[in-house]
This record gives sequence, C-alpha cells and structure tokens, in this order.
Amino acid sequence: MTAYCSEEYLSRDGLRQLQSIRLRTTLARAARSPFYSQRFAECGIDLNAITGPDDITRLPFTTKDDLRSAYPDRMLTRPASDMLRLHASSGTTGSATVIYYTRNDVDSWADLMARCMHMVGVRPEDTFQNMSGYGLFTGGLGIHYGAERLGCLTIPAGAGNSKRQLKLLEDFQVSVIHIIPSYALHLSATKEELGYTPERLNLRIALIGAEPHTEAIRQRIEDVYGLKAYNSYGLSEMNGPGVAFECVHQNGMHIWEDAYLPEIIDPETGEHVAEGETGELVITTLCREGMPLIRYRTRDLTRFLPGQCPCTRAHRRLDRIMGRSDDMIILKGVNIYPMQVEKVLMSIPEVGQNYLIVLEREGYLDQMRVKVEVKEEFFVEDMRVLKALQARISSRLRDEILITARVDLVENNSLPKSEGKAQRVLDLRNG
Ligand code: AMP
Ligand code: ZN
Repeated sequence: MTAYCSEEYLSRDGLRQLQSIRLRTTLARAARSPFYSQRFAECGIDLNAITGPDDITRLPFTTKDDLRSAYPDRMLTRPASDMLRLHASSGTTGSATVIYYTRNDVDSWADLMARCMHMVGVRPEDTFQNMSGYGLFTGGLGIHYGAERLGCLTIPAGAGNSKRQLKLLEDFQVSVIHIIPSYALHLSATKEELGYTPERLNLRIALIGAEPHTEAIRQRIEDVYGLKAYNSYGLSEMNGPGVAFECVHQNGMHIWEDAYLPEIIDPETGEHVAEGETGELVITTLCREGMPLIRYRTRDLTRFLPGQCPCTRAHRRLDRIMGRSDDMIILKGVNIYPMQVEKVLMSIPEVGQNYLIVLEREGYLDQMRVKVEVKEEFFVEDMRVLKALQARISSRLRDEILITARVDLVENNSLPKSEGKAQRVLDLRNG
C-alpha cells in the first residue's frame, strides 16, 4: 500500500518527537484563548514545564460542560472573524457544543479524512456517495471534503430518501459510500424490495461509523451490499470524522497520533488505566489552530489494542467503541451497556434490523422491555414458535446482562426509525 502522507508510516519514536513539538505549539496557542488562559492560571500551570506527551497528566481535563460554559467563543484563540467554519455535535447526550475551524483546520481535517479513505483503498477513480446528514453534523461536510481532497467524484446525497439513494447508487455506479450503520440496515429493506441486487450496483467499500455497532452488524452490511465496511470514528469536538479508522485488516481503528494525543483513563479516578485495559478515551488536539482542546474527555469507552498491526503503521489501534461512560444503564443495581443487548440480539438469526430497549417502572421496580423486530420469514402465525423464540432471547439476554428482560416480538420494520443516529434506549422510569 502506498502512503497518503509522510506522517502515516512514522515510527513510534518519530511520532513522539512530532507530538512533543506539536503539543508545545498547541499549549501556547490554547493559552491565547480566554478559557484556557483562565484555566491554566487557576490551576497554576507552568507551560514551560510541559515538554512532551509524558507531561500531559499535569494538565487539567476539558469536559463537555467546559465547552458549554465557554459557549459561544471563549475557547477561540483568535477572533471569530478569523474563523472559516463552525460545526456542532449532534447532541447525542444533550445540548449542542460548537467547534470553530480556521482555514488551516478545515484543510488539515480534509487531509486526515482523505488519509483514512486512502488507507482502505479509495482512489481518485472512485465515485463516492455521502449518505450522512449535511449541515451542522460533521459527517456531512467533513467526509465530503476528504473525498474531494482525494479526487473522487463526490455525490452529496445527504440523509434519507431511500429510493433516491438507491437510484443514485445505480445510475452513477457508485463504488464507495459513507453511511450510518443503522441506516445501512434500514436502507437494505428498500434495496431488497426494489430488487437492487449487488450485481446491479458497483459497491466496493463502505465507511460506517458515527454510532456504536457490533461486528455482527458490520458483517450484515458487508453481506447485504457485497462490499467491505470499515469502522470510522470521530467526534465533532475533534473536528469530526477522521480521528481513528480501520485499515484493511479490520482489526481496530488506527488513531492518527500525529494529530491527536490519546489517553485512556479510569472515568472514576481520572488516572491512566493499565496498558490494554478499557476506559474512557481522552484526546488532546495537536494540529488545531482555531480551537485547540486539551485532554478532552470524550466519554467514549474503548482500549488500546495490544501488539503491532500487520499493516505496520505505528499509530495505535482503538478497539470498537463499547459505549459511553455516560450511557450506562443501571437497572436493579446492575450495570448494563446497550451494546451488550445488541450483541445478544444480533447473534440470533431470526432477529431483524431494529430493536428498542425500554426502561419502565412498575411501582418501585425497574423493568427492562426489549422490543425486537423479527425477520419476515420467521414471523409466523404459530404462537408456539414465537413463544419459543421469545424465551430463547430472554434467556440469552439473562446470561449476558444478568437481568430478566421482557421480550416483545414485533414485525420487521415496525419500530420507529430515525434517519440520523438510532435511538436505542427509551427511559420512561422518571416520566
Ligand atoms: P458527534 O460529535 O455528534 O459526531 O458524535 C460523536 C460521538 O458519536 C462519539 O463521541 C461517539 O460516542 C459516537 N461515535 C462516532 N463514531 C463512532 C464509531 N465508529 N463507533 C461508535 N461510536 C461512534
Ligand atoms: Zn493496520
């Protein structure tokens, strides 16, 4: 594989040297923003004492609440009139936070994204269709600019309108798509209905990300569309997509350590976890001019995968995001991650595209109800068959999450769908 840029194959030592230089520049820049100049002063930080990545733990964390408190522009290193663009988070867990970009920021972001796409084999000859929402959400313009930077013919299809998406795919013989996993599954129903077989289409590669998904979901997407699907990780606070991305080996996402300094911490204590253990991902931007972020707590739970990737890139690999340190469900004193439920459901062949976890309260007792779509061919009249399936799902769930959940079987495609990120948990306990 050819390299997209010189940073892609830097050694660990090379990366460390670059990180040290870029960290010092970043801190000097950050100190020019009203927010960080105040924060550094309050914490008595001597920036001259920070010489490289090993000193990072002397610096305070930045949280989503800090971003909100600095709203709209107290984290900017220069006046807003010097900025070129702004984006906001999709509000996955609350009100929007805003990120500003200078011209150089937009430019280096496009390069990072192009590097990701190039790594999995996207080339200028490819035709690329971006099926994610445009507007403030970074999955639109962020990936769009990356594809254009590579030189692909780029179709900004946006989210939704399944029939039109499929027509564009066929008419322009699109070879590469960017799609949210839940929408990929949703679209597959229309695809089947209208008879768009993989042969009619010319798809090779899908970039899938923006929401947690399991290996089983990836495989379903690969099978249904006849392509290779690569996990793409990013968050608007860190530009958007282009932070970490799978290589062709599909065994964890290389985080681009020339642009991002990653740490994994115990969300309770804030201390680094032992090598290879799961914790919360914390990232410091190393290239950003307009709005650098220092030790930003992403709330995403993951771990560094041990060992060297066969591709020989030294940028460390993140495991699939397991969930967020703030989406954990506590039910009857038991901690549950929605991903655990998904893992069980997707391992059952009769289960269809969609599910919903509903948390309810009966008297003083919390209950979990899981509404599960059943594939059409299994949704039979015979109650005994369905009852047996229900019992099987319930018992498999109990093994995984230690809770007896009520299982409602519903018809395929009957649960409400969103064209953005899927809403997997409905908490009715305090309503
Ligand atoms: P936003 O800032 O609106 O783009 O949301 C970013 C969040 O989406 C991240 O912090 C993650 O929680 C989630 N996310 C993004 N990409 C992935 C991925 N590949 N796998 C799992 N979660 C993801
Ligand atoms: Zn690799």
